[in-house]
Amino acid sequence: MSFGEWQEWQNGMLGQWVYVPSVWLKPGDEIPTCPDCGTPFRKTQEYPNIAGYQANCLDEHDPDRIAQTERERLWLGAKASATV
Ligand SMILES: [Zn+2]
Repeated sequence: MSFGEWQEWQNGMLGQWVYVPSVWLKPGDEIPTCPDCGTPFRKTQEYPNIAGYQANCLDEHDPDRIAQTERERLWLGAKASATV
């Protein structure tokens, strides 16, 4: 699981890319767990002979989860001061 840099997107929003690991498994295969926290992957897609699983613990590892509110406030503050 990895998180990118915060950056301004073309629509003026402050955004961040996130890479969430996912795998394809055959029936009977062991469901993988997050190497960081051990949370089992969540099934996201299912076909007769294969199923897609994806890490289900994004929030647990988001380094900005707590700081995000503060960042948004700072960002809005910067915009406001630019229009003065
Ligand atoms: Zn995890």
